[in-house]
Amino acid sequence: MGTTGRQIVKDADKIIAMLNKLYCDEWLAYYQYWLGAKLVKGPMKNSVMAELNQHALDELRHAGMDADRIIQLGGTPALSPDIWLKLTNCNYDAPKDPYVKVILGQNIRGEQCAIKHYNDLLKFTRDRDPVTYNMALQILQDEVMHEEDLQSLNEDMVLMARRGVK
Ligand code: FE
Ligand code: FE
Repeated sequence: MGTTGRQIVKDADKIIAMLNKLYCDEWLAYYQYWLGAKLVKGPMKNSVMAELNQHALDELRHAGMDADRIIQLGGTPALSPDIWLKLTNCNYDAPKDPYVKVILGQNIRGEQCAIKHYNDLLKFTRDRDPVTYNMALQILQDEVMHEEDLQSLNEDMVLMARRGVK
């Protein structure tokens, strides 16, 4: 296989498989945020919408990073959207209820799932693939920040509710 850098990678096929699952997660997370931003209703709607749109862009960027690494390792990213729901770790949680607190809760659970799976990739690649390790670390830092941003909006809303702002 003439793929650049693959000779220094151990268990490349397993790493490609892990990356492909994360790649599918990123597309689903992108769509969940993107659509959630359009539908969201309730207190602090504008701040929440801005945050969801920013996260959507980050998830799309992560999908690109995962796809580039899969290709570098000689693999093929999921070729069709129907594969996203088959390979995903974190699933898709449709924004059926547009109320801010519900949307935030769904996306917080999504981030917690993403954090777990990028952490698994980080552990697996530590002694096997330094390039994927470094990429997983960068993405993990973004996911942790995403969770923190959503939790902080959620907290603001709890405080507002306590003070009787509806
Ligand atoms: Fe992501
Ligand atoms: Fe995220």
